[in-house]
Amino acid sequence: MADQDRAAPTGIDVTKPSIARAYDVVLGGKDNFEIDRAVVGEMLKIVPQLPEVAAYNRQILKRGVRFLVEEAGIRQFMDLGSGLPTQENTHQIAQASAPESRVVYVDNDPIVLAHGRAILAENDNTSVVTADLRDPETVLANAEVNRLIDFSQPVGVLLVGILHHLHDGEDPQGVAKAYMDAVPSGSYLFMTSFCASFPEAAALEETYLSVLGTGRFRSLEELQGFFGDLEMVPPGLVSLPEWRPDEPIVEELTVAERLMAGGIARKR
Ligand code: SAM
Repeated sequence: MADQDRAAPTGIDVTKPSIARAYDVVLGGKDNFEIDRAVVGEMLKIVPQLPEVAAYNRQILKRGVRFLVEEAGIRQFMDLGSGLPTQENTHQIAQASAPESRVVYVDNDPIVLAHGRAILAENDNTSVVTADLRDPETVLANAEVNRLIDFSQPVGVLLVGILHHLHDGEDPQGVAKAYMDAVPSGSYLFMTSFCASFPEAAALEETYLSVLGTGRFRSLEELQGFFGDLEMVPPGLVSLPEWRPDEPIVEELTVAERLMAGGIARKR
């Protein structure tokens, strides 16, 4: 059956690639269309290890959320640019350690809401909001966000795998700061992003920008700027597998392992 014959949820344009669906292709998911697979095909020509990179990103998500729940005591999360539901989502990771944890997912792609609703139907502590994270004022005023998030208590703000989709002119640093300004002392920012720490970064950035329209590879220094004056949790901003690995790293990191960097920081 051709993709176009499959019922696409309302508001889903199957003639243009979407970031959420292209990421779903890379993760080996089924919620994507031919146009998304074609775009990912172009990216894989430059970095065939992209599926590994996506897996590292999902692994650090798990380690990071576990840290936030188990060591930092966080019980409420805003997952901004959350993506389509996949194997282990933020609410499942958090609620496995602390069942009372509340999670609001925010994504501007309506396909995320269409697929998220079904998964979350039975979970009162979790919600999906369709909104543009570049507009923090609207996100922070959203009724569903305010039903689940108590802004007088520490919040885990997740900007995982998303800030590289913001152009420099969209002030990604200011966007991150706006969310952190809205949460109290003791809150955390958890951020991962493409990092220009390997020779193919420029070619890959060019491909992302031409086929998907977004995808900035920033230097470690630029990425550090996203944390502003927050207090970095050790080991700081590092390549994804280096952030509190479950097993010690003994070999030099590969290109795939260095393609993204991430870290967590605490608001004083
Ligand atoms: N956070 C997940 C992860 O790291 O596994 C998913 C990352 S996925 C690469 C990026 C997600 O951000 C996509 O689902 C896309 O739809 C969403 N996104 C892109 N731009 C956005 C925006 N301006 N506002 C809200 N969501 C956005």
